[in-house]
Amino acid sequence: MPLLPLGPFPSDAGYATAVALDEADPLRCFRAEFATPDPNLIYLDGNSLGRLPNATIDRLAGVVADEWGDELIRSWPNRWWDLADKVGGQIAPLIGAAADDVIVTDSTSVVLFKLIMGALQIRQGPKQIVTDDLNFPTDLYVADGVARLLGDTEVTVVNTERADPTEAVVAAIDSTTTLVTLSHVAFKSGYLYDMERITSAAHDAGALVLWDLSHSVGVVPIDLRGCAADMAAGCTYKYLNGGPGSPAFLYVAPSLQLDNPLSGWWGHRDPFAFTGEYEPDASIRRFQTGTMPILSLSAIEPSVALVRKAGVVAIRRKSTALTEFFIELCDRLLEPLGFLLASPRDPNRRGSHVSLQHADGWRITQALIDQGQVIPDFRAPDNIRFGFAPLYTSFVDVHTTALRIVELLAAGIPLQYSAGRGSVS
Ligand SMILES: *Cc1c(COP(=O)(O)O)cnc(C)c1O
Repeated sequence: MPLLPLGPFPSDAGYATAVALDEADPLRCFRAEFATPDPNLIYLDGNSLGRLPNATIDRLAGVVADEWGDELIRSWPNRWWDLADKVGGQIAPLIGAAADDVIVTDSTSVVLFKLIMGALQIRQGPKQIVTDDLNFPTDLYVADGVARLLGDTEVTVVNTERADPTEAVVAAIDSTTTLVTLSHVAFKSGYLYDMERITSAAHDAGALVLWDLSHSVGVVPIDLRGCAADMAAGCTYKYLNGGPGSPAFLYVAPSLQLDNPLSGWWGHRDPFAFTGEYEPDASIRRFQTGTMPILSLSAIEPSVALVRKAGVVAIRRKSTALTEFFIELCDRLLEPLGFLLASPRDPNRRGSHVSLQHADGWRITQALIDQGQVIPDFRAPDNIRFGFAPLYTSFVDVHTTALRIVELLAAGIPLQYSAGRGSVS
């Protein structure tokens, strides 16, 4: 495949701006903390799978060789047994929670099941879950699955197409609502919910709230305690860079008496008594079920340390600047080529990725990955998502991406690709 000229593109007026923004960027030194075997690759999919921190390579090598290889089962009491609590405590300040109220366990989907089922089991009689059409599919599938199990639960999926999503959800909450569950940042458009407003509207109606923080943790400041949120869940492999399939985190407000519906020995008050009766631990550990994936769990620590060192406020400031700069370039260079901004224009209502719609979106995505040395991702039917991870995305990356799209289209390269969509991206 012929490669395009790789840029950067100093002849464009935006280049000088990008260089100046990079020079003034207080987080620019963090890029060197990540493995970049191909320095020409522009990686804009950190909202789906974050890059590998260099420190994680050493940590995993140590866990494998020393803790598993050498120490063997002695590592359970010495190092592994409390690791999920410890990592939960490290994530806690990123979400405005106390260390004791967060634990890492399972996948986000399983954690969502535990929290939704647990929350609905508190209530007697008919129940209603309010969610929305911006939510990630697994969140909706889990809510549906819980409704099927309980038999007396209705799932209302709010249509947000024609209204401000926050207002549409607030309007759908009423006295019949038991639980409101939403993604803080929507995976497709990047819309950022007003957490405080939704949480207080739900509480006014007597409902509980569960926030999925998968697309906001590590990149948007979150204050679960400040807005009295009841429950939260989220991935550790997106902006927290924990690695493929790293376990999820779970938060339950200390005032909420919630049981783990997937009771297992890891949530038992005294697991090594091996008794036949389940007695839940009083702490957040009761939300564990079975043996933790120690290798994946260990990979989270060094990456969360990087996010905490940079600070979420500084990360958010750069994230907003990156998305604003990209949108400016889109307006000037990409809109005339048939791209439509599919993310909120208001930076206060936007997470850290920007979606562009284009009739040829899938072909353009393939051409960018294959010949443009830029990795975004694609969400059907016509959304190209550009994820900006402030710890390793530069302003020159953003500028180069926009100019490479212009060049690809000018050379007709996307037309070389099939219009039919592939499997995983
Ligand atoms: C990425 C993501 C998930 C993924 O769930 P897993 O169980 O980890 O596969 C769930 N919900 C949201 C909102 C996500 O963005």
